[in-house]
Amino acid sequence: MDTTRGAAFLDAVATRLPNLRLLTDPLDLEGYRRDETAYLEPPPPLAVALPTETAEVAELVRLAALHHVPVVPRGAGSGLSGGATSVAGGLTISFMRMNRILEIDRANLVVITQPGVLNAALKRAVAAEGLFYAPDPASTEVCSIGGNLGTNAGGLCCLKYGVTRDAVIGLEVVTATGEIVRLGGRTTKDVAGYGLIPLIVGSQGTLALITEATLRLRPTPPPMVTLLAFFPSLTSAGDAVSALAEAGVEPCTLELMDRTTIRAVDDDHHLGLDREAAAMLMIESDLPGAAATRALQIADAACLGAGAISTIVAENAAEADLLRQARRQAFNSMERLGVARMEDVGVPRGRVPALLVEIERIGMEQGLVIATFGHVGDGNLHPNIILDRDDPDGEKKLNKATDALYRAAIALGGTVTAEHGIGATRREYLELQRGSGAVAMMRAVKAAFDPLGILNPGKVLPDA
Ligand SMILES: Cc1cc2nc3c(=O)[nH]c(=O)nc-3n(C[C@H](O)[C@H](O)[C@H](O)COP(=O)(O)OP(=O)(O)OC[C@H]3O[C@@H](n4cnc5c(N)ncnc54)[C@H](O)[C@@H]3O)c2cc1C
Repeated sequence: MDTTRGAAFLDAVATRLPNLRLLTDPLDLEGYRRDETAYLEPPPPLAVALPTETAEVAELVRLAALHHVPVVPRGAGSGLSGGATSVAGGLTISFMRMNRILEIDRANLVVITQPGVLNAALKRAVAAEGLFYAPDPASTEVCSIGGNLGTNAGGLCCLKYGVTRDAVIGLEVVTATGEIVRLGGRTTKDVAGYGLIPLIVGSQGTLALITEATLRLRPTPPPMVTLLAFFPSLTSAGDAVSALAEAGVEPCTLELMDRTTIRAVDDDHHLGLDREAAAMLMIESDLPGAAATRALQIADAACLGAGAISTIVAENAAEADLLRQARRQAFNSMERLGVARMEDVGVPRGRVPALLVEIERIGMEQGLVIATFGHVGDGNLHPNIILDRDDPDGEKKLNKATDALYRAAIALGGTVTAEHGIGATRREYLELQRGSGAVAMMRAVKAAFDPLGILNPGKVLPDA
């Protein structure tokens, strides 16, 4: 983009929005260049705006459209697909100062919130009222509701409560022309016209900017009870996942860790996990009282039947909580092993054992350590490819491994990304997975929502 256009745009912003917090100092901009995909090298943005009100966002987008300046919406920057990374000559709009919970509506079991509220903060605020907001990405303490909506974030208890999209019944958005549009509201059943909310949620800021959300709440469920099962092989753990479904157990959480992850997590948190086991399943139930005990008994039998070496029930809520926190921090525990690149493939649940075999094969073929954990109950695994910092061929091997991983997931009827998003990092695999017909429909949707192509360009859709 030419610098005159950028300068004219910034002048217009300063004139129209004199009270807006706008960053243009290169040192400030540096902090908004990347998300958690540290390996990407995006150019710095032209500027970063930190609005506090929807009207400011609308004015910013209106001016951006006028001056043909790209706009990148940004939450807390914890994304793992480069969705919030800056764009050359673009304005990054950080929503982190739009961080007010506007209303907790007990009668209608909804919360109305601005996008900059952290997931964990929202959970805590509604919990104080005896209510429960279900979506819980492992990054709960460091990701925002806006980012969760942008990525349609998953997490640990999607198996029972669904993903972010399932919790959204209303949105206020700013369109690519700077109009403010309200979609849905507090009505739980509503089929009037096309479903625009599900389309915008998960679109990674490429269709509209979300400035407010109405989210479904539930009464607080009973405390979780937790079972850990240790397995002699990854495939026996995979078999246990199918056995649990066949036994009719619907856990709230069903997470897997492989041996490398078990050891890294145990090194960090000293939990006394079985370090020799090839895999561990963490199974949680939040059914009331005796029903939870019964569910875990059935789960225990299913795991032992699939070949578990040992099983153990957390002694109390504090121990269960400790285990959950350790699982949440599994990615951080990887860092002591080398540079970890977290992947995010998904397959139908019954194909999990086959995916685990493929992951092992790919690691061996490329001579790479791949540590796998993830939301196995959803068929969603996070293979973490560990790079030896001193290996000159590391990057090449890693690229081959991710390519093989994506192709394996697709061949198993799955997806190259179950919850992190296509973003900037997986665009060339979109057509391979979805097919050209589906991608053509996506392009038509994008053109209808964003005719000038200013909303988060270079994300989600491959170059034409
Ligand atoms: C350790 C770790 C664990 C993680 N665990 C999980 C997990 O269990 N499940 C999971 O799904 N993800 C997980 N993630 C990934 C990440 O936390 C999620 O993708 C999260 O939803 C991103 O939120 P954010 O606020 O950081 O958004 P950002 O990274 O800032 O943005 C994410 C996307 O949303 C768009 N966006 C942001 N705000 C808006 C808005 N207001 N309107 C429109 N678009 C917007 C951005 O443009 C971008 O495309 C994890 C990440 C880490 C580092």
